[in-house]
Amino acid sequence: MIVAIDGPAGSGKSTTARRVADRLGWLYLDTGAMYRAVGLAFRERGLPVTDQAAVDLVPALDVRLDPGPAGTRVALDGADVTDRIRTAEAAADASRVSALAPVRAAMVALQRRVASGYQAAHADGGVVVEGRDIGTVVFPDADVKFFLVADLDARARRRLADGPDAAPAALETVRADLAARDLRDESRAIAPLRAAADAVTLDTTALTIDQQVEHVLDAVRRARASSA
Ligand code: C5P
Repeated sequence: MIVAIDGPAGSGKSTTARRVADRLGWLYLDTGAMYRAVGLAFRERGLPVTDQAAVDLVPALDVRLDPGPAGTRVALDGADVTDRIRTAEAAADASRVSALAPVRAAMVALQRRVASGYQAAHADGGVVVEGRDIGTVVFPDADVKFFLVADLDARARRRLADGPDAAPAALETVRADLAARDLRDESRAIAPLRAAADAVTLDTTALTIDQQVEHVLDAVRRARASSA
């Protein structure tokens, strides 16, 4: 089973997806971490954000995710970059490089490979995938699809409280960063951030994490019951 959870930054999708995967004993796949690693590779090499640079760079990159209870560890070409990709700068870089077609093609292929490899090895297992285009592009046939939203203020406050993205920044800066990133993600030509037609939209502004997790688990139970 594939559970797709999309939404803008700070909507609660990472925490929800991770906890749902934990509860079910399934794989959690953080696709944003992949784009962040690619963004870091562009920055480290001083590359322009162009299709040509992506065509030259991306096929040679080795991006690996190692999901664990404390979050996903990310390795780029064998080096652990987990902390380096969790900065506001890395988020903005990810958003820029993720608009490039060659980057998206490679990451979507990687995401599908990781999910199918896991499912091949775990007969009853599922994958909880979070991102921006999971229900629309990566897994359009996902069994369960959610699109999480929340007020910009609530998202900025969450980022400030627990997001390493923005640790020393003021609320106003975080809010402006999120708004700029949302706009870029929503308005790009390829795989823009948007809800799939068959996704359940969940406004998390006034929900607790436990409530969000229960919404998704309920949907998983229903999907399992109807396919049994
Ligand atoms: O989810 P996270 O904030 O880590 O994602 C960082 C950036 O990566 C997003 O702002 C978005 O531009 C990009 N992304 C994407 N497609 C995904 C996941 C993330 O374009 N499936």
